[in-house]
Amino acid sequence: MTEHDDLPVAARVRRLEERLIEAGLASDAEIDEFLSRLYAEADPVNGARMVARAWTDPEYRSRLLSDGNAAAAELGFGWMNYQLRVVANSTVLHNVIVCTLCSCYPVSLLGPSPGWYKSFAYRSRTVREPRAVLAEFGVSLDADVSVSVWDSTSEARYMVLPVRPAGTESLGLDELARLVTLNGLIGTALV
Ligand code: FE
Repeated sequence: MTEHDDLPVAARVRRLEERLIEAGLASDAEIDEFLSRLYAEADPVNGARMVARAWTDPEYRSRLLSDGNAAAAELGFGWMNYQLRVVANSTVLHNVIVCTLCSCYPVSLLGPSPGWYKSFAYRSRTVREPRAVLAEFGVSLDADVSVSVWDSTSEARYMVLPVRPAGTESLGLDELARLVTLNGLIGTALV
């Protein structure tokens, strides 16, 4: 028994799993396999590797922006049951992602979502006053930089492609990937 077993949400999840199994939509083993894979492999390093590749390979970058799922699959991240849309920051545009309804987010590429991503304050304020929210995260944008807010759903989820920092020309893929933070992939940091 884990410390979470007595939480109401744990009971709800168990009932949901039972319904899926009863309806023949998934077997117990399939659910277990999916969850173990998710826990073992879901990590923001995955998204960071895609970003580093896009920074160094213009053709990968255009494939990433036109078909996120295919570009993720190229690097071995091919098991997403939603449409992945990658939105690129530039000197004149900053993107930030949110799920106003709940907490949708590309978990397999970004790892478990931070607590604040699921908070009512982040979900409601990011659409109303994105610049103020970004400033609280330490992202201050020039007045001539537009902000695009992307509202995720269970079908379409977003990842931000940050701008490659200046002075990183000599870095290799692994070093570049280490520069990319989870907040950078959400848009609440510049990289
Ligand atoms: Fe959601």
